[in-house]
Amino acid sequence: MKGINPIVHAFSLDIEDWYQSSFDFNAPVNEVCVHNTRLVLDFLLQYNVKGTFFIQGLVAKAFPYLVKEVHSRGHEVQSHGYSHRPINNMTPGEFKEELEETGKRLEDITGEPVTGFRAPDFSIDKESFWAFEVMYECGIRYDSSIFPLKTSRYGIAGFTRGYSIIKTLAGEIEELPVSVLDMTWFCGFRVPVGGGGYFRLFPSWFLNYGLRKLGSQGEPFIIYCHPYDFNPREWQRILKRVPWHRRLHQGLGRRRFQEKVAELLKRGTFGSMSEVLQRIHEETSQDKTSS
Ligand SMILES: [Zn+2]
Repeated sequence: MKGINPIVHAFSLDIEDWYQSSFDFNAPVNEVCVHNTRLVLDFLLQYNVKGTFFIQGLVAKAFPYLVKEVHSRGHEVQSHGYSHRPINNMTPGEFKEELEETGKRLEDITGEPVTGFRAPDFSIDKESFWAFEVMYECGIRYDSSIFPLKTSRYGIAGFTRGYSIIKTLAGEIEELPVSVLDMTWFCGFRVPVGGGGYFRLFPSWFLNYGLRKLGSQGEPFIIYCHPYDFNPREWQRILKRVPWHRRLHQGLGRRRFQEKVAELLKRGTFGSMSEVLQRIHEETSQDKTSS
């Protein structure tokens, strides 16, 4: 993909309750995720950014007013599944039920169709590609669930970096993964720079380099964050509930997270996932016209 001008990058947020989504799927969702999401809404207002909020169905059920608030403040509302259980542990029927339940709740609140999806913990792997057909049948037209790099927990090694189209028997789904960098000067390693724990791990200069590098290649930078990333005190609050071996990993680098995102938002033009796709469609139709 070349020459999209001006480049629009995407800011996206997966709205979930940290403890329920990461440690106990049967735990109730806590109102602190409302507080944390409002921190992000106020943060984005400072930079005049309207992003995409992938909202978990359980959160929409518990706090429908939060979905309304996100939507009325001009952000795009899309689906993050219902229970946060991994897709690659579900049957197609279970996944369909989750998608329909979440889609209906979000659509009832916003009055707009749900057409975008991000899987909990990027849990679509090569064995669970059936999920794309289910998505299409449920009205989903774009997805951001594939992590284009294999880690110990998720991801698909060598998957297309940036935009691609996934064909299913039901129809096509546009795939827009979170950003990774191909480090040709560093043994050809692929490095994740799109958000979450990687924002906590990497210094600001490296993330800014990633934004510049992808931008220079005409590729949008796709950020993903969680509401609790914007509340450095939350990890201390629930520290005692987190297994000891995950405390260091969960606590590392939380204080500077917000500053790092702010640096990126100041350096680029950020919008929603749909805006990025719109630019790609415009670019594609220009290419067709000129060829
Ligand atoms: Zn999630």
